[in-house]
Amino acid sequence: MKQAIGMDLGGTSVKYAVVDESGASLFSGQLPTCADKGAEAVLAQLSRGAALCREFAAGQSLALEGIGIGTPGIVSSDGRTVLGGAENIPEWENLPLAERIESVAGLPVRASNDANMMALGESLFGAAQGATDVVFVTVGTGIGCGVLVDGLLYRGYRNRGMEMGHITVRSDGEPCACGSVGCLEHYASTSALVRRYCVLAGLGDGEADGRVVVDAYLRGEAAAVQAMEEHWDYLAHGIASMINLFAPQRVVVGGGISEAGDFYFGALRCKVERYAMPVCAADTQLVAAALGNRAGCLGAAGLFLYENSHA
Ligand SMILES: [Zn+2]
Repeated sequence: MKQAIGMDLGGTSVKYAVVDESGASLFSGQLPTCADKGAEAVLAQLSRGAALCREFAAGQSLALEGIGIGTPGIVSSDGRTVLGGAENIPEWENLPLAERIESVAGLPVRASNDANMMALGESLFGAAQGATDVVFVTVGTGIGCGVLVDGLLYRGYRNRGMEMGHITVRSDGEPCACGSVGCLEHYASTSALVRRYCVLAGLGDGEADGRVVVDAYLRGEAAAVQAMEEHWDYLAHGIASMINLFAPQRVVVGGGISEAGDFYFGALRCKVERYAMPVCAADTQLVAAALGNRAGCLGAAGLFLYENSHA
């Protein structure tokens, strides 16, 4: 059986795992990203994670096929260079990521967008298994997305597409970090939910998080009910637009907030049904992601475990 290293670079942590073809994580862990210390510090953390995986593999006499890395931002279509667009990691642009990690880790490296890697992970081993046409959405600090068309990741020309978080849900909306206004991510991310709840509940910045809002919603607190309803409404507009475009078999929703409970999907499903064109959504199931925060590492390892994973 083949094994590879999968790494998932986030704004706060670097996750790493040694993964086999069955999707089992034989070894895994995480390190702080150190994003505030700049790109060199982040590269050092990725190298440390890779070294820990290699030590484990050596101890078990396992051969490794390579290192797949899911990173925020847009990656060149050869999987070697981060072009830009990673707003939560300063200096993370025009960076020869694959070459830098290869030079210290001594294994071939391929990088791809982190949400694409989560989508690939869910497709190979999770909630999208067996489906050829999939929209994967991850809701967290931002909103990420990966789309499979006929079983392959759709990437846009030169890998620059699929920024679902920046489709417009309010043409009169507030400015977004991307330079536009009224973006989905600015209204439907978990950060947006928490920000809106704090305003409605009269709390200061940082006095709540996603868990606090969900708990307050379940207690029936008015501010939390309104903030959650607005969150579902915006998110459903975004998902309905993707359904109208791609007519997926499955929409897989992941990210911490999606693990809140069945009520979360019940409410979201109602609104998606309300906004999607019925003829486009006829064969679409909306389901929860199955792999939690392991999806990114599993998908990234999949770049080296499955020939035609095409990321
Ligand atoms: Zn935007």
